[in-house]
Amino acid sequence: FGSHNLRSLAYAVVTAREAGIPDHGYELQMLYGMAPAVHAAVRRLGFRLRVYAPVGELVPGMAYLVRRLLENTSNESFVRRRFKEGAELEALLAPPRADPLPELDPPSRPEATDPAAAGEYQHEPVAEWRRAGVRSAFGAAVERVKLGLDVAAFIDGHPVGTKTSIVSVDPGDTAREVAVSASCARAEADAAIEVAQRAWPAWSRTPVPDRAAVLFRAAEWMRARKADLAALQVFEAGKPWKEADADVCEAIDFCEYYGRQALRLGAGAVESPPGETDRLSYRGRGIAAVIAPWNFPLAIPTGMVVAALVAGNAVLFKPAEQTPAVASGLVSALKAAGLPDGVLAFLPGVGEEVGSYLVEHPDVSVIAFTGSKAVGLGIVEAAGVHRSGQRHVKRVIAEMGGKNAIVVDADADLDQAVPAIVNSAFGYAGQKCSACSRLILVDSVADELLRRLVGATRSLRVGHPREMGTQVGPLIDADAHKRVLSYVELADDEGTVFFHDDDVPSSGFYVGPTIVTDVSSRSRLATEEIFGPVLTVLRASTFEEALALANDTDYALTAGVLSRSPARIEQAAAELRAGNVYVNRTITGAVVGRQPFGGYGLSGVGTKAGGPDYLLQFVDPRVVTENTLRQGFAPGE
Ligand code: NAD
Repeated sequence: FGSHNLRSLAYAVVTAREAGIPDHGYELQMLYGMAPAVHAAVRRLGFRLRVYAPVGELVPGMAYLVRRLLENTSNESFVRRRFKEGAELEALLAPPRADPLPELDPPSRPEATDPAAAGEYQHEPVAEWRRAGVRSAFGAAVERVKLGLDVAAFIDGHPVGTKTSIVSVDPGDTAREVAVSASCARAEADAAIEVAQRAWPAWSRTPVPDRAAVLFRAAEWMRARKADLAALQVFEAGKPWKEADADVCEAIDFCEYYGRQALRLGAGAVESPPGETDRLSYRGRGIAAVIAPWNFPLAIPTGMVVAALVAGNAVLFKPAEQTPAVASGLVSALKAAGLPDGVLAFLPGVGEEVGSYLVEHPDVSVIAFTGSKAVGLGIVEAAGVHRSGQRHVKRVIAEMGGKNAIVVDADADLDQAVPAIVNSAFGYAGQKCSACSRLILVDSVADELLRRLVGATRSLRVGHPREMGTQVGPLIDADAHKRVLSYVELADDEGTVFFHDDDVPSSGFYVGPTIVTDVSSRSRLATEEIFGPVLTVLRASTFEEALALANDTDYALTAGVLSRSPARIEQAAAELRAGNVYVNRTITGAVVGRQPFGGYGLSGVGTKAGGPDYLLQFVDPRVVTENTLRQGFAPGE
């Protein structure tokens, strides 16, 4: 037992004795020069003591010694309290009080119906899993999730059945059906467009504070059902608890943030000289089609839908085929928040059918899409064609994929680097557009980092996300499973499979974390988006070469650098070609209003989600200039 803590040592000794282990059957270990009085005391009691000294590099060694020193000089220390404060032995020997963490009151928020009092935007706090109450509440929500749901389309506020349907299954246990959803075709799309045409003018004239209030009420609705909304994602999207909770928080954030942004839009943007009034205002563009992915099944659709709505558009929302039940939660939230019926249609269906029909429809003027590069580029192309009866140029906001790199500098703090890389590469099984899929190591640090990285990756728990301890869940569907496995096979041809966990459950679409080395920078593994837990490692002889490798991609979504050199951090921040650059941390987990998110290059077109410019993409700006000089007004109206 290695400890300088007397209470821990006493506990270990008693436990060993209770287990029938003789006192000479183990040894105690203490550091040379640390707490010699304790060394003497345990020797006097007849225990075997090994006194050791750490051997190795100076910097990690210093960190190690400082940690030990802090432990042994703590104000709570047994020794200090006895000898400095004269505490009674009785009190010191009493079992420690298990102080349960107090339950926290949720932060008070202003009444959602009063946008004027909305106050500053506050990020929705993620669950604090260290609190027992939070864990058991979430566990209960996971246990009570209702599956076998029926998800209808919604047009003009009414559920609509369709001829065909889509089944969503639990990707972690494919025998379990989560929902059967409607599958809309042209007929439903046409009906929804007709309703939207009628509903849009009144909605676009609705005062902005009233539109914003709908978003604030929707946020409140989601907040009150946070655990249930997240628990459904555990089954329909295969999200581990932490990721599912974060997704719902982000959805709430989008409502709170865009509601406030709408209230500020354009305020004070133009000046009026004497004798003239100039007013800049923004009007919704008309009908927006929102086409969403499954990987942030509530947050991403919420962001796109509520931005379009609060900017004064009617919305046709097509969720991903894999997650219709989660997406329908957004429709319920907005309905409960009092959104007028015709303003939002919910059109689950097949992307290539109803999705592309919406894209091409002459009455749709904005398309907000998040998904793959191939589909995004197809949408940009289709939207560029002018069709008969179309009185606008379609605007496309397309957030697409990435092939994101983390660069590890020679002097990086590996204690910090390893968890940052593991979380970025394998969180949600690598199914985040922001995930790290290329790791670029400066040669001198490569071997040591890889050794530690493999250890940390091996310890990840792969399994069904209904278990709280699961860190890596399944891939979303059979196609993804097949595709990612094909890259794992390819890794043998293109490089070396340095680590692959094949001890995964067979009940679902699981692929274990995989690390591939010795690949060329132009190989498929190093250039194609895999969207799974496969990390490709490249080496560089200098930091400059590492940055050049990181930038050698068509995408420009996220990138990271791990370094302790201020000059090289500055260089990387300036030179890494990515919409979001992260320094000495994970490259995933952008927060609305703090890290506006989105890429350029072939990662996307349009400005950043969760940022101050986002709403401008959904509006037409108008300026009204009035001559107020020598103006006699006519009496009457
Ligand atoms: P996907 O492109 O296959 O599907 C996205 C949506 O497009 C779905 O609703 C789908 O039904 C629809 N669709 C498919 N074909 C269509 C067509 N021809 N016309 C219109 N709509 C069509 O993507 P996915 O598998 O759902 O999501 C994963 C991809 O999304 C990854 O490439 C990932 O990087 C990307 N992504 C990007 C961001 C970002 O912010 N940049 C965020 C999340 C996901």
